[in-house]
Amino acid sequence: MTGALECIFCKIVAGQIGCLKLLDDEQSLAFLDIGPLAEGHVLLIPKRHFETLAEMSGELVGRVCDHLPRLSAAVTRVARADGCNILQNNGGVAGQVVPHVHFHIIPRRSGDGLGYRWPAGEYAPGRADEIHGQLEQALKDLA
Ligand code: AMP
Ligand code: ZN
Repeated sequence: MTGALECIFCKIVAGQIGCLKLLDDEQSLAFLDIGPLAEGHVLLIPKRHFETLAEMSGELVGRVCDHLPRLSAAVTRVARADGCNILQNNGGVAGQVVPHVHFHIIPRRSGDGLGYRWPAGEYAPGRADEIHGQLEQALKDLA
C-alpha cells in the first residue's frame, strides 16, 4: 500500500511534481493525464489522499464530481470527440495503478479502438434475487 507521502498525486497536489492544471478548488484538482489514452484525457482527483472511492464520504465525492459535467463537456469539445468515458478504477485488479482516487475523463471517437472486454453473463434462476437481497442488506449495514 502506498501512503500519502509517496503518492504521486499527493505530490502533484503539494506542488512537488508539476502538472498541466485545469481546475483547482479547495477539495479538487483536475489536470491532463501524462499518458493519455486520447488527446485531452483528463484526471480529476480529491486533494486529500484516499486510496479507493469507498473510503470517501458521499459529500466529498459529490463536491469533487460536481466538476464532471463541465469537465466532460470541455474534454469532448476540445478533443472534437463523439462522446467520453468517465472511468474510476478501484484496486489493482480493476486496473488502478495510482493508489489515490481519480476519475478519468477520456474522449471517445468512433473507431478509436478503445474499449472494454464486456462479457455480459446471465443469472441462474433465483440467483438475481439472492444477490439483490445481499446487496440490500449490505447497503443497510453500511448506512
Ligand atoms: P489508473 O490506472 O486508473 O491508476 O490511472 C493512473 C493514471 O495516472 C494513468 O492514466 C497515468 O497516465 C496517470 N499518471 C501517472 N502519473 C501521472 C502524472 N505525474 N501526471 C499526470 N498523470 C499521471
Ligand atoms: Zn495521494
